[in-house]
Amino acid sequence: MVKNIQLRISLKEEKIKDILLHKSAEDLNVSQTDISGIKILRKSIDARKPKIMFNYKVSVFIKEPLPETSEYKFDYKDVSKAKPIHIIGFGPAGMYAALRCIELGFKPIVLERGKNVQDRRRDLKTINRDHFVNEDSNYCFGEGGAGTYSDGKLYTRSLKRGDVRRIFENLVFHGATEQILIDAHPHIGTNKLPKVVQNIRKTILNFGGEIHFESRVTDFIIKDHQIQAIQLQNGKEFTTKKIILATGHSARDIYYLLDKKNIALQAKSFAMGVRVEHPQHIIDSIQYHCKGLRDDLLPAASYSLVQQVNNRGVYSFCMCPGGFIVPAATANGEVVVNGMSPSKRNNEFANSGIVVEINVDKDITKYEQFGALKGLEYQKNLERLAFTSGGRSQTAPAQRLTDFVEGNLSPNLNPTSYQPGLKSAPLHSLLPKLIGSRLRKGFEAFGLKMRGYYTAEANVVGVESRTSSPVNIPRNEKLQHPEILNLFPCGEGGGYAGGIISAAMDGERCAEAACKEKRQ
Ligand SMILES: Cc1cc2nc3c(=O)[nH]c(=O)nc-3n(C[C@H](O)[C@H](O)[C@H](O)COP(=O)(O)OP(=O)(O)OC[C@H]3O[C@@H](n4cnc5c(N)ncnc54)[C@H](O)[C@@H]3O)c2cc1C
Repeated sequence: MVKNIQLRISLKEEKIKDILLHKSAEDLNVSQTDISGIKILRKSIDARKPKIMFNYKVSVFIKEPLPETSEYKFDYKDVSKAKPIHIIGFGPAGMYAALRCIELGFKPIVLERGKNVQDRRRDLKTINRDHFVNEDSNYCFGEGGAGTYSDGKLYTRSLKRGDVRRIFENLVFHGATEQILIDAHPHIGTNKLPKVVQNIRKTILNFGGEIHFESRVTDFIIKDHQIQAIQLQNGKEFTTKKIILATGHSARDIYYLLDKKNIALQAKSFAMGVRVEHPQHIIDSIQYHCKGLRDDLLPAASYSLVQQVNNRGVYSFCMCPGGFIVPAATANGEVVVNGMSPSKRNNEFANSGIVVEINVDKDITKYEQFGALKGLEYQKNLERLAFTSGGRSQTAPAQRLTDFVEGNLSPNLNPTSYQPGLKSAPLHSLLPKLIGSRLRKGFEAFGLKMRGYYTAEANVVGVESRTSSPVNIPRNEKLQHPEILNLFPCGEGGGYAGGIISAAMDGERCAEAACKEKRQ
């Protein structure tokens, strides 16, 4: 017999050996010796009250053995001689499109502008140490895309868009910890992601797919509303029948290329702001109601905040407890910050994007001349402003949180996890009013929601600008571009995803659509 039950376990009880066995037996009124095994289905922390509780959902197996394997099977077949589908970009969308093509009996040929994960790591060092951004290999570009050296939070709201569990199981199949199948807010961590990405690469190659690194796509040859060939910067050309375009939201050259070729694009609303960094112990003490260090059993605390200010949402984005702020620019001459954390989330800082909704129809009317690319140009200008005010390097402009809100230049800044360093700058007056004044009001409101959050011990760092795509590449019900029939815009760059899991799910969906399409 198998019974699914919910258990609430206090922090004190959590330290007791076999507590789940004791509690399950008590709850079901059965003898502990009759319980052959317990499978944890879900685990979350309830820290709303000072007495912190762990909520468990478990399957209790009574006089019945635990099933050993996952119900998910990944049926990869040899596709080395199968019909090809070209996939541009090897981020989560491109990787999962390639894996799905293999399952469906098509050969994925992936073209990726960046390098493999190992070589890419050297270019990340160069950004942090020498302030030089390789425009093909950085925190956004390269094997695994923006997902590889990301935070690896796997939480998604896109539950209706596909089989989330399938993606999680596939990540575990490729080496991610099984804990992601259980945690309410699953997280892999930037130190573990490269291995998972490498294993996905091995699967694709082992089953006959192709992956071409350092292969930046620069042009398409189009005839009769179909792309006939893909041209690369290195001079190579691939003739093609079907293309999944999964180049992410930082591939500005792809948007420019499509626009130049008069392929329809649409401006899309997005969000921009700053990243705020607190000492982790401040966030822990607020969220866990504790003074001093958090209990060893508790992970670095996170938060999620939202406030309406003058008809626009101001909200926390990609919060990274125990993490680092990283330089996520994709070109020299711009400063973009983002966040990541290792699997243990054991760094001494907590950082989060705090961003303001930008309504492209109402908020940036001065940019109308750029048509569908108006949001992109606005975003680009803000990143250039961050570059110049940060000192024309990857050093980022920053201010103490209280100085930002009160409108004072900070004479000095707090310690930071941001390796290229910070430079004090008057972000309160540099940011457009649309963003700056809403952020300042938002921070005041957050200080009331989380007592201790509004503090001079936190820095705000500019700019958090790549939250989602400012451009939408349209597609019809067959997931094809309405004007270019063998082009399947995919993932975050198309405007169809907002994180690792939703991009992966969209990759699978586009692969299914491309494999189904009869045109050969
Ligand atoms: C620092 C950081 C932390 C993040 N943390 C999280 C997180 O914790 N959780 C989460 O869900 N999301 C996170 N994200 C966002 C997440 O990484 C993206 O949403 C996701 O990677 C989007 O997937 P994608 O495949 O659509 O695009 P991308 O991952 O952007 O991949 C696009 C790929 O296309 C390639 N490409 C671009 N142009 C060309 C071209 N012309 N020719 C060939 N190849 C090209 C790029 O090199 C890149 O590899 C983070 C992002 C960053 C930068």
